[in-house]
Amino acid sequence: AHLDRIAAVDGDVHAFLHVSADDALATAADVDARRANGEVLHPLAGVPIAVKDVVVTKGMPSTAGSKILEGWIPPYDATLVERLRAAGLPILGKTNMDEFAMGSSTEHSAYGNSHNPWDLERIPGGSGGGSAAAVAAFEAPLAIGTDTGGSIRQPGAVTGTVGVKPTYGGVSRYGLIALASSLDQAGPVTRTVLDSALLHELIGGHDPRDSTSIPEPLPPLVEAARQGALGDLSGLRVGVVTQLQGEGYQPGVLARFHESLELLTKAGAEVVEVSCPHFEYALAAYYLILPAEASSNLAKFDGMRFGLRVEPEDGPVTAERVMAATRGAGFGDEVKRRIILGTYALSAGYYDAYYGSAQKVRTLIQRDFADAFAQADVLVSPTAPTTAFKLGEKLDDPLAMYLNDVATIPANLAGVPGISVPSGLSDDGLPAGFQILAPAKADDRLYRVGAALE
Ligand code: GLN
Repeated sequence: AHLDRIAAVDGDVHAFLHVSADDALATAADVDARRANGEVLHPLAGVPIAVKDVVVTKGMPSTAGSKILEGWIPPYDATLVERLRAAGLPILGKTNMDEFAMGSSTEHSAYGNSHNPWDLERIPGGSGGGSAAAVAAFEAPLAIGTDTGGSIRQPGAVTGTVGVKPTYGGVSRYGLIALASSLDQAGPVTRTVLDSALLHELIGGHDPRDSTSIPEPLPPLVEAARQGALGDLSGLRVGVVTQLQGEGYQPGVLARFHESLELLTKAGAEVVEVSCPHFEYALAAYYLILPAEASSNLAKFDGMRFGLRVEPEDGPVTAERVMAATRGAGFGDEVKRRIILGTYALSAGYYDAYYGSAQKVRTLIQRDFADAFAQADVLVSPTAPTTAFKLGEKLDDPLAMYLNDVATIPANLAGVPGISVPSGLSDDGLPAGFQILAPAKADDRLYRVGAALE
């Protein structure tokens, strides 16, 4: 049914870069056979899933939205994909994204943008707009995204879906094509909070192949979602972050935010206001740290090892000239912009002023979170300042595009988990998102509070 739905609507939505129908049907048949045999399978066995194209899948294209990886077929599965396959989830295909996950709209994909199913003239968010659009358009019941600065939560908000960025180290990064290694996390994109909890428990937990993977087991997430659904939040302190509301936020988005807060109060939670004074520098720090790490991570795309190789049109074919020709042809404008920003921020003479200062700000933001979580069990804000904007509206203005991430970035800088749940339709009739943040390793709180809002 989902493959039929993809065939019917993906020409308009363009959520998928690759549909793996044969693979998905084979897994589904295998699950049916095992069930018929009386085997007890994972609760999600047989439930199809779409995977963001930045996650490597054995035998299936994995381009990360870039021309430089066109034609590359990975010889291995990411850990999270191994876990999906082992549990019997048919993989429907790979979803569209901004090139190397750089962007907030999917317009930086080298394969054309995706469309928001609520209004095809609008962006589905980014970088994981393909995964969110696939779930919102009923092309897939579940999807995987990655979130370095908001790429799961912001697409969730603008498509009316649920998106979770787990605690840093909570889901293995083995097999993720790295954007910024100290910020990247993979997580669920679904239509309900309980679905996200089920998927998070499946893909999360320790992996010895990721040196930053948290050794202890995940907290009980499904149980927390079930408990939250009962609607009793008495004893819970909810902190509204002063710096993540007000100027720049669309009135309708703020109105839905305050209505969701009222629901939490009605469920027995106590709402307090908390201040995180350094959050106003988070965006600036992120847009130095991310390009710095990305410029280093992308150095491996040299025309020798993976995907595209372009030889210089004339003159000698030296290694350096092949690299220059390949990277010149294979990377898009946004990727080049960030490589230049990153190498500049890291270069001798500038390192202390840019990268060094940004790292100090990162520490201050972590301290803000520590202070705030001493006053509240969870922190909340609108997920994104506005609903989905029109395709093309911010494409020529990188700063306007970056400003979309203002509420999501602090969590990545501190490694704490966050969820976006729908908070209803804004005054323009488009979905708005409610963000919940919890302390590191307390991802269960996201599910308890998120489920109470459904
Ligand atoms: N929009 C952010 C950026 O462009 C988010 C990226 C992400 O989370 N992958 O960096």
